[in-house]
Amino acid sequence: MNRKEFLKSTALIGAGLMLQGNTLFAFLDSKDYTFKKLRNGTGIYVNRGGTIGWLVNNDAVITIDAQFPGTAEVFWNEMKKLTSRKIDILFNTHHHRDHTAGNSYLGKFAKSIVATTACVRLQKTRNVGTDLDKNKVYANKTFEKEWSVSIGKENLFAYHLVPAHTGGDAVFHFINSNVVHMGDLVFNRVYPWVNKDDEASLRGWITFLDDAINHFDNDTLFIFGHSYSPGKVYGSKNDLKYMRNYLEALLTTVKKLKAEGKPDKEILNLETIPGFENMKALWDGALKANIKAALIELNE
Ligand SMILES: [Zn+2]
Repeated sequence: MNRKEFLKSTALIGAGLMLQGNTLFAFLDSKDYTFKKLRNGTGIYVNRGGTIGWLVNNDAVITIDAQFPGTAEVFWNEMKKLTSRKIDILFNTHHHRDHTAGNSYLGKFAKSIVATTACVRLQKTRNVGTDLDKNKVYANKTFEKEWSVSIGKENLFAYHLVPAHTGGDAVFHFINSNVVHMGDLVFNRVYPWVNKDDEASLRGWITFLDDAINHFDNDTLFIFGHSYSPGKVYGSKNDLKYMRNYLEALLTTVKKLKAEGKPDKEILNLETIPGFENMKALWDGALKANIKAALIELNE
């Protein structure tokens, strides 16, 4: 990862979740983005924040997640080259700012915004205190566990299983195209963002991924919330298994070291998790935060 990529990656998450205000956006070039077709009218958009998934055909325009207002505008300008339709459905996979702050822009063109009730609840209670939170736009259609609808020739299905990356994650399936947006349930080959205050559950996360691994098939194309390069934000079931196995190794490693009597302070200083030495850090302290979450969870 070169310096520019690293700064960008750091900012994707940092700006979305940690920073007060939006000063960090200033040095980023929002023209440096990827808008790419996948299959059957679906595609991805990678800029700052979580990957946007999209579908365009003659009778439907769908977008999954919204990034930030500025990057959402760049995205919508690309979409307008493909269609004159408005957005039939804007879907939020979870409440984090780098997935929902752009609702304030894309929402102007969307007939409906759909998310889990927990996503909206957390968006209201957790996304507070930054400039981005002054103009929050929430889903106007919510569901607890499952949601489905048919638009034109595409059947859509989304579901929430248990708290995982947050208390309100949902996975979104374009059934006919067999393309799934995993939201932030997959940080592909990079340490995930885990914050217990977002109602994250490492055990729940493993359960949710196991369910997705069983639910979808080998032809399913998966879109991921984050990775270290635009070519890595989509992939196969193998990537789900890798993510799942990392979370399990994280819990197992921390549990073992605690059982051996290692103090938390030492465990927090681990430099890698055995078997996952190739995981990349998108920001400083990424693994430490994962270990911290594991320590909290093992004490629950
Ligand atoms: Zn997230």
